[in-house]
Order: sequence, then C-alpha cells, then structure tokens
Amino acid sequence: MKATPPGKSGENTTWRGETRVLHGDQGMDPDTAVSAPIHYSATFRADTPEAFAAMANTPRPRAFYTRYGNPVHKRTEKIIADLEGTETALMMGSGMGAITTTVLALVARGDHVIAQQRHYMSTSRLFEEVLPRFGVETTTVDQTDESAFARAIRPETRLIMLETPVNPTLLLTDLAAVAALARPRGILTIADNTFASPLNQKPHALGIDIVVHSATKYLGGHHDLTAGVVCCSRELADRIWDMHTTLGSVLSPMDAWLLLRGLRTLPLRVARINDNALALARWLEGQPRIERVFYPGLESHPQYNLARRQMTGFGAVIAFSIRGGYADTSRFVAALKLATHAVSLGGVDTLIVHTAAMWSGTMTEAQMAAAGIEPNFVRMSVGIEHLDDLTADLAQALAQLG
Ligand SMILES: *Cc1c(COP(=O)(O)O)cnc(C)c1O
Repeated sequence: MKATPPGKSGENTTWRGETRVLHGDQGMDPDTAVSAPIHYSATFRADTPEAFAAMANTPRPRAFYTRYGNPVHKRTEKIIADLEGTETALMMGSGMGAITTTVLALVARGDHVIAQQRHYMSTSRLFEEVLPRFGVETTTVDQTDESAFARAIRPETRLIMLETPVNPTLLLTDLAAVAALARPRGILTIADNTFASPLNQKPHALGIDIVVHSATKYLGGHHDLTAGVVCCSRELADRIWDMHTTLGSVLSPMDAWLLLRGLRTLPLRVARINDNALALARWLEGQPRIERVFYPGLESHPQYNLARRQMTGFGAVIAFSIRGGYADTSRFVAALKLATHAVSLGGVDTLIVHTAAMWSGTMTEAQMAAAGIEPNFVRMSVGIEHLDDLTADLAQALAQLG
C-alpha cells in the first residue's frame, strides 16, 4: 500500500468557490478516510515532552484541547476563510459566541464603539446593555447614512460594528464607505455577514477587517446545528482566540463536522435560494393582498443601487406585509403548508415568522403598534424547494384571506 501524502494541499488559488468548498481542506488530516474524520476528543496526546510543550504553547493549535482547537474546526476554518477571502478564521459555538468574543477581545474601559441602530437583537443588547457595565460606550447610528458614522467618530473610537442586510426591513450598510472612514483612523471594523452569506457579499474585499457569521444559518444550512465563525487576519485571530480560551464558546466536534458537510453544498444552495427568493419577491409585489415587499434585489428597495454594487446575490430573506391586521396575517401563516412557522434563516427549507406573534402573549395590537411592531409583518427565509411549489403555497394561503 502506498503511503498517504499528507501534503496534497488546498492552496490551489485558481480553484473557484464551488471547488474550494470541496477540496480546500485537502491534506489537513493524515487519515485516509475520504469523508473527514470526526475527532471526538476533548484532549490530544503528545508523544514527547517537546511535542507537548509545542502543542501547549502554540496559539490556535490544531490539536491540544478542544476549547483551544480541534482538527475538524481547522478544516471548517480553512474553507470559510477561503470563501471570505481572509487569512484565517476561528470557529465558535454560536454566532453570538463569535460576536461577543470578538468585541470583548478588542475593547477596554474608556473605549468608544460605533454600532447601528438596528442589529440582530442580542448584538444590540451587547452594545447597549452589556458594554456600558464595563465602561465601554456605544453610539448607535442610522446605518443608511454614512455621514452619521463620520459624525460619531471620536478620538477614543476603537471599533465600528456593522451588519448588512439587517432585520426587519433589510436595510443595507455601505461597507466600502464605512471601511474608508475607519481604516485611515486605525479604527477596526466588524461586519456581521450572516444575512448575505459569503457567496453574496465579501466584506473583507470592501475593506472590512473582521467578518463574523452565525454559521447556524447558511453555512450549516440545514437547521440542525449552532455555530459561529470569525474571519480575519492571523494577528487579529490570535488576539480573539486568546479571549476565546477564556470565554469558552466552544463548537462541538460533531457540529463542526455537520458544518463541514453543509459547506460542501453551500454554493449550490445559495444559488438556488437567490433565484427562488428573487422570483418570489417579484411575485409577491404583484399580489393584491400584499401591502409591501422588502428585498434588496427589488428595484423598490430604497438602496437597490447599493445592493447591486455590494452584493452579487440577495439572499433568502424576504420581509413583507399583508393587507389586513394581526388576525389576517396569522391566518395566512397558519394556512401555509411548505413554509414552516419558525425562526432562523438560510437553510434548505423555507421558514416564516409572524413577528408580532412573538409578542402577542404580552402586548395588545395597540401596544405593538406603539412599539413599531407591525401586526401584519412577516419575514420569510426562502429554501431550495421548487419555485412553483413555493409560489403555489403562498398563493393558496393568500386566497384563503378572500
Ligand atoms: C442568528 C444570528 C446571529 C446569532 O447567531 P447564533 O448562531 O444564533 O448565536 C447573529 N447575527 C445574525 C444576523 C443572525 O441572524
């Protein structure tokens, strides 16, 4: 039997994304299995005292102790960094793990941070509720107004947190414009790229320093795992990893393996999702029972030109409002047979959320209106089902409204 060369490496720079998700991690494991082995081990052996010392003293080791690193993490990191065009990446146990660990690694008492008025809800809480307790102040700005970012900059500004597109109406942030403000001043930028996926938007190529994802969404792609990732330079990754070993948002080797499996089909899935979602968004705009549709790929989106400049596809999430109130919207969602009533996005099957239903137990319709929670608003994450079946499902549910 021929000895297996561990060295067939995935460094072929001419490979396209579709090829790199399959072969980018070649040669990273000495095992001969074609499917990546799952290293289901919390700790790893050294054969000599010297080897142990080397393992224990290497930042982001491949194998030492799983909170520090695991061979399956390394494979997913390689593929995701390739997709984002960053030097390296660092796996975490969740998207929020990735965001909190990154931010806490980079700020200290007395620093100032700029964030958007709208972020993923837990991200907003980090900036508005958690950081102030540790003496870090945040200014939140209108993400659609780049001059608002410029005005918010202070001498002690260390970090700008961005997220695009963002809930609930899929507004965008001009990543290149904010990066151009931050870079010359030595302010680090982070972009949460979850809603776009690395196939549709590459923040690092636009000048953003750090790209974070909830890998729970498109990257895993099957609504079965929770994971997060930070993509950046090796120097920043070492700093963030140092904080990570303290905060401990560890990705299980099994979930890393499921993520690796999901990544193999990411380009196929995202291409299909983009096509389905754009077609459905256009179709929804033509329906008399639909009041408004929010989707970056529609000409009616207020930042359509920015979307075309910054994104190569527009992703899974469509937000829309039904002509009617809470009850009509609730009936519409309940009548759907394919779209499942559940949170999350970017997976193979279509999910829908009636936003106001989350608050219906604690608020009246009038209270929700006062809080800006539209009773007739839904958010749909389009999957890879056949477009005709998805269209027919939406049509029959709308027809039930009369
Ligand atoms: C889901 C999500 C997160 C949080 O990710 P988890 O994996 O659930 O921790 C962060 N940002 C965005 C935009 C998300 O959609």
